[in-house]
Amino acid sequence: MKPLIVANWKCNPTSLAEAKRLFNLVRKGTKNVKNVEVVICPPFVYLPLLKANGAQDCFWEEKGAFTGEVSPKMLKDLECKYVIVGHSERRRNFKETDEMVNKKLKAALKIGLRPILCIEKTSQIRKDIKGVSKKELRNLILAYEPVWAIGTGKPCSIKKAKKMNSLFRKILNKNVLLYGGSVNSQNARDFIKKAKFQGFLIGGASLTPKEFIKIVKNISKD
Ligand code: PEP
Repeated sequence: MKPLIVANWKCNPTSLAEAKRLFNLVRKGTKNVKNVEVVICPPFVYLPLLKANGAQDCFWEEKGAFTGEVSPKMLKDLECKYVIVGHSERRRNFKETDEMVNKKLKAALKIGLRPILCIEKTSQIRKDIKGVSKKELRNLILAYEPVWAIGTGKPCSIKKAKKMNSLFRKILNKNVLLYGGSVNSQNARDFIKKAKFQGFLIGGASLTPKEFIKIVKNISKD
């Protein structure tokens, strides 16, 4: 499997012109890197304009009276392939519970999107995947994201990341497993080579094209 690198732009940038610039720079800089898959998750408003392949969230219903929400069916219609679910910022700032994350996850899988489920503690996994069939589960991507490492410049140590990786593997041993939390071009290779992750969910560094491209290129080396 190719390493998977997911860019989570969060609530950035603040103009379409800047979003296009960022997107095009990343596309151009990574287009010749064949052995890494890059997913870009911009804010919803830029998604159809950029034809990006990832979204940062989705609702669980298909349609109806749910002001402000975006459904998995809408994302699928835009040819989006991936959707982040249960990011710690949503759990913390928007009070998303495991029950809500579970509904989102099931709705995304049902429509054929690949959800990237963000997890801090392994105890969340069973609650978040409750009721998902074995067949659908194959499309699930997990992202280990310790909250204290997100946006702090203090990544998880390789030793701890490796330990967490094996704990995740005791619960779900076949799913793609990403690491997220202050990843940069200096530390990225160690998370893959030493801690055995299969890619990354990247926040801050995904907004700096030079650094993001460098991460993708560093990962593409054997
Ligand atoms: C994130 O928000 O998922 C994340 C990993 O952010 P950062 O790379 O900035 O730590």
